Order: sequence, then structure tokens, then C-alpha cells
Amino acid sequence: MDIQSDLNTVKGVGPVLASKFSQIGLTTVGDLLNYTPRDYNNYQNAVNIQFMQPGMVTVKGTFDNVKQRRVRRGLHITEADFSDGFSKVRVVWFNQPYRAASIKKQQYIIKGNYGLQGQRLQIVNPLVTALEQDKDQANSITPVYIERGGLKSFQISKVVNEIFKNINDIPETLPINVVNNYKLLDRSTAYKYLHLPSSNKEIEQAKQRLAFEELYIVMMAAQKMRQLNKSAPAKPIVFNQTVAQNFVTSLPFALTPDQKQVAWQILKDMQKTEPMNRLIEGDVGSGKTVVAALATVMALDAGLQVAIVAPTELLARQHYQTIKNLLDHTGHVKNIRILIGSLKQKHKKDTHQEIKTNNATCIIGTHAILQKNIKWNDLGLVIIDEQHRFGVQQRQSLHATLPTMPHILCMTATPIPRSLALTVYGELSISIIAKPPNQKANILTSITSPNSTAQMYKEIRNQLNMGHQAYIVCPLIEESTMLKAPSAQETYKTLSQTELKNYKLGLLHGKLKPDQKEEIMQQFIDKKIDVLVSTTVIEVGVDVPNATEMVILGADRFGLAQLHQLRGRVGRGTQEGHCYLLMTDSQKPTPRMQVMTNTSDGFKLAEYDLKLRGPGAIYGTRQHGEIDLRYVQLTDHKLIADVRLAVDKSSDVLENLIQYPYLAQKIQRALKLTYLN
Ligand code: ADP
Ligand code: MG
Repeated sequence: MDIQSDLNTVKGVGPVLASKFSQIGLTTVGDLLNYTPRDYNNYQNAVNIQFMQPGMVTVKGTFDNVKQRRVRRGLHITEADFSDGFSKVRVVWFNQPYRAASIKKQQYIIKGNYGLQGQRLQIVNPLVTALEQDKDQANSITPVYIERGGLKSFQISKVVNEIFKNINDIPETLPINVVNNYKLLDRSTAYKYLHLPSSNKEIEQAKQRLAFEELYIVMMAAQKMRQLNKSAPAKPIVFNQTVAQNFVTSLPFALTPDQKQVAWQILKDMQKTEPMNRLIEGDVGSGKTVVAALATVMALDAGLQVAIVAPTELLARQHYQTIKNLLDHTGHVKNIRILIGSLKQKHKKDTHQEIKTNNATCIIGTHAILQKNIKWNDLGLVIIDEQHRFGVQQRQSLHATLPTMPHILCMTATPIPRSLALTVYGELSISIIAKPPNQKANILTSITSPNSTAQMYKEIRNQLNMGHQAYIVCPLIEESTMLKAPSAQETYKTLSQTELKNYKLGLLHGKLKPDQKEEIMQQFIDKKIDVLVSTTVIEVGVDVPNATEMVILGADRFGLAQLHQLRGRVGRGTQEGHCYLLMTDSQKPTPRMQVMTNTSDGFKLAEYDLKLRGPGAIYGTRQHGEIDLRYVQLTDHKLIADVRLAVDKSSDVLENLIQYPYLAQKIQRALKLTYLN
């Protein structure tokens, strides 16, 4: 048996079990080995109740006095005593109405947080595992697998055990000198220790090895990207002091120190023959566009063309106005064009012609302007707003159609923590505008329990009555049986009949056609809609200063950086903004949520979430393109330093990837995931 073998060749896996596995995407032995235990029940760590300290605890024993009650709408409590034969402790589950019926008279091992709830020490929402009767697990560590598709953790365990009885060595995937130099477990052992550990140390070592491999692949991909970037030359854009000075003095304000520094970094990059590949990070309203406009003028003055790409037609229109205003005093304003799908065919064709003949030099539009059918006269700079990646494929397709590679400048309001940027986006140069130019109006953030929304809606109605507008943001588009989270459609329906029935509501979500979305946005901008019920589609760059209220439903399901970006939609005018974070259930708000109410620094929030929940949390699951680092702790500086060193020394591997088919495939995939949208 090897990793390619079908799972149904494993002893004990019949057609029924095999089909359950395949329903959750596991068909081969290798698939199952990559199904990482979510946690371990460490019976070695089990403690006597008598000596328990507050914090995470593991206890072995039996349940007694199981009771359940509904306290009020939205709050269900299950309580029980848990006894280890000597002492007992109170256990509580919130909103797990199925729990009571599942508890039987038998030995369990439970794991959870032991702490003060109200006046009382108890274990809250513990994980519960039934101890198998036939096996003495008193001194073992058993993996806990996520139970999906009707598969129980112990069933998965059994199959995994069977696999390790029969499997041949799992082939090594890292270069062997890397394994040796960094004293990593070989791959075979790593999998064994991951699934069948006999000590905590083995789990650690296994994760260490797998983390190393994950990061090695991501950083090799970044290295590859750097090489690709260097291989295609760009036209240098000479710095012209007069042009810069004229532009800056034409502005109605002085650039902030951050803007000056970022502008300087960009202008320096553009003077090179290596194409610029820079990302400006700065909160919405921090003044990125002004800096981009300066780069634009410099390129235009050097006789090159500039493409400015926005994620939506709406934002393209906003940019078109802004850039025209900013370039008003230059000789280039007459050559600025907007190019978006909704324009008349004839108009678009004329613009294509003008681009070809260099009568149009600065083109603002959506991604379509980078399509092959547009013949540029001499494209020198591409500016991409609100998209933190510019893909290999896009780069290659530009390269294929243009004699030289344009310089590329991306702008994003998503704060990407340094540690993540340096590893995952290793090939990017990053500029940060940390301080916004003028203090925006305040945003007051508060946490609201789902049981006390009446007061909140009353305050929102007050604001609406004063002529302001509101956003209601939901995690889902439509009702889902899988996830207990509020949907935009359901929320829209309910609110139109209840709390907000006297106001005009609009519904906006990603499943609408682009022109439908834009129409609704336009109605909101024109104040034809008072309240916009939406999914996170409003996250990017929308600017409606009159909107002062925001409710985020199921806020605990979002990443902090994402919440921060969402709430940046309010408080954009002169009026104070209010952001209400509505919890999924009525439990006490977590410290993670509380951070939102007392921190307004997007970078701090992103770092905080990165530590707590990993990179996925920063972008939310919406952006599937994000690399999923399962084992890497981006706070593990030693690991990052080791891998960086290994990658630097592995240039030969990158040259001869053909000898490493597994790595080659993974690196290719990482490139796609990280750099394509
Ligand atoms: P971003 O693109 O980062 O969201 P913008 O460049 O659109 O931000 O700037 C937001 C607003 O702040 C604009 O109205 C812009 O004119 C203004 N602004 C930009 N830089 C400054 C500055 N240095 N001083 C004062 N206002 C500025
Ligand atoms: Mg912007």
C-alpha cells in the first residue's frame, strides 16, 4: 500500500465507509494522511479534578445530573456534573441542545476551559470523547479528527491505524540536504507522529517538519516570482524634479510625511530597468490615490502610457473623476479616458484606437483594460487598486503582448502584517501609509448581543430620521443549513417588515449581476435607499459620506482586519460613525471582539488576528485564493529564518525543478494561489 492507493483497499473500509470518505474529498490513502487531526486527546495530560487550575484542562470520568433549560430566546443551557471518581466539577454547554441526549453512562474524556462563570468555577463548552471500552487508553494520546459527512473521529482513527500497519515508506518531498541540514523528520515519520504520536514531543516534531515544508514551498514560489520578474525588463522612468514639484504645488494640501516617503520609494523603483512590483498599504482615505497620481504624471511625462485598474466600474468612475481633478494642471488631462464595459460599443472602439495611436495615454477602467485585444502604444505603468496581487499569468500575458514589462503598483486598504507580507508576498516591495492626512470623523464601535437589538435599531432609526444612511452587513447571502449565521436575504426580509419597515431598504450581494450591483450602489449613493443590507461586497473602497451607521451581524465570524475594513465605510464625512458588532449568540463577547472596540489601528488588529487565528483570518474565507498555511505559525521567527536560509541556498533546486516533480507541482500551485485572482 502506498499514498496513491484507494482508501477502499484498506482493511475495514467497505463501500459505505469509502463513499462517506469520498464525500468529504478523501479518496486515497494520501488524502487521509493529509487529513490533519484537529486536536489530540492527551490522556497523559488528564488531571485530577481536585488539583485543577483555571485554564485548558483534560479530565477523565463520567457525567451525572444532566439537565437542560432554555433561558430565553437564543440561549439554551445544558449542565452536568463530571466526576473522576474522587471529586466533581460542573460542566456547561451553551446552545448545544443536542448535547443532553448524547450523553450516556460511560467513561468520557473531556477537554475545555476551566474558569469562573458568574460566581462559579466550571468547564465551559468542553470537547467530549467517549472512551472506547475495549482498549486501555489510559496512557495514550489519540488524535481528534473533525467529524464531517457522518464520519466519527474514532472511525477515522481506526482506518489510519490500519494504514500504518501496511503502508510502504512515504516518499520524501523536500530535498534531502534540507531535511538533513535542518534536522527535520523525514516525511514518513512526520505523518506517523502526526497521526499516532506517543508523546507531545512527537506531535511537535511532526508539525515542525510539515510547517517547514509548507513555508518552503510558499517561499520558493516567491523566489520563483522574483526571478520571473527580473527576467522581463521595464522602461526606466527618469525622475523629473520639475514635474514632481509642479504636481505637488498644484495640490490644495501638502503631502504628509508618509505620502512623501512612499512617493519617493515609488519614483525610485520606476527609475530601474527591473519592473517595479510595489504594494501601497494604507487605510481607506489615507491618501494612496494622490501618491498614485504623482507616479502617473511622472510616467506620462516620460512619454509612457498608464493603466489604472479598479475592481468595479463604480470605483473606476470614482477614480476617473479624482485623477482628472488631480491632473487638471498638467498637460495630460485631455488624454485621460475611462474604459468600462457599460460604455457604448462605438465609444469603446474609438478609445481602443486612441490608445493605439497614443492619443489616450492614461486609461482608467476595470480589469478588461489589461486584455490582449487592447493595443498599447507604450504602456509603462499599471496601477491596480484594491487588489493585493498581480498574477503571474496576468504578468505573462502582458509580457507576451508588450515589448517591455510595465512597472506595477498595487494599492490596498487591507492591512497585511509584515510577517505575512515577507513570507507569502516575499517578492513584493511594500510601502505603508500609516497616518491618514486629516483626522477622519470618529467611529464608535460597540458590541451588541442578539437579545438587545431593540435599542440599537432605535438609535439607527434616529440617525435615519436625521437623513443619514446605514449598512447592515451579513456573513451569508442566503439561509444555510450548514452554518448558523444570518443571511442577507433573510435579514432584508425581516427588517423590511419589522424594525426598519418605514425605510427604503436595498439588498446587495455577490450573486447579483455586476450591473444590478452597481445600480443598487448608485441608488444608495443618490439616497434613494436608506439602508443597504449586504454581504461583504461593500468592503472594498465604497465611499458614501452620508452613511454613518453600520450593523455587522455575526461579527464574531469575521476576521478583525475585515471588520476594520468594513467599519471604515462609516464615519467618512464630518459625522461620527457608529458600528454595531452583533454577536452570533448571547455569550459574553470574546477578548478578540473587545479589541475591536478599543483599537482603531488596522495593522494592530491584523497582527492580533494573525497570532490568534492564522492568515486565513485576515482575509476571511471569501478570498479563496489565499494560501492556507495549516502548520506554519507566522510568529515563529526561527522557522521563518531557517526556511529563508534554506530557500536562499536552494537556487539549484529551483533551476532543476524537473527533478522534484512534487515540489514543482506545489510551487506552481502556490504561485497560482498567491498571485492569481
Ligand atoms: P485612498 O485612496 O487611500 O482611499 P485618497 O487618496 O482618495 O485615499 O484620499 C482621501 C481624501 O483625502 C481625498 O479627498 C484626498 O484629496 C485627501 N487627501 C489626500 N492626501 C491629503 C493630504 N496630504 N492632506 C489633506 N488631504 C489629503
Ligand atoms: Mg481608494
